[in-house]
Amino acid sequence: MPNEAPLMLDMVPELAEEIERGLRDSGDAELAEQVAGLRMLKSCGCGDDFCASFRTAPVPEGPAGRKRWGIPLDNHLIIHVLQNQIIEVEVLFRDDLRPKIRAVFGDEADWRLRQKQSDQN
Ligand SMILES: [Zn+2]
Repeated sequence: MPNEAPLMLDMVPELAEEIERGLRDSGDAELAEQVAGLRMLKSCGCGDDFCASFRTAPVPEGPAGRKRWGIPLDNHLIIHVLQNQIIEVEVLFRDDLRPKIRAVFGDEADWRLRQKQSDQN
């Protein structure tokens, strides 16, 4: 389990707060509990200008990885869940958050490389 990825709560506290509140409001208290511990693992990487989505957990390959579902907190903030674990935060058209989120993944290439190296060890 990579534990060097930064905590969302540290990097973008207003987003963590918004998600936690949104999940509680939608009755997902159990998921809301996870928010404080979510780490910003890697950016979505789709390259769309409006997108600042990111992974918060590794997704298993194969059929197990496809049983995910989304909880829309609003049209532009969707929480993806797999086996009761938050795996991705979908953030679209959020000019207020995108620069901050992108800044976290500024050294994404290095991060991926480090991951690859540690996977081989
Ligand atoms: Zn994207």
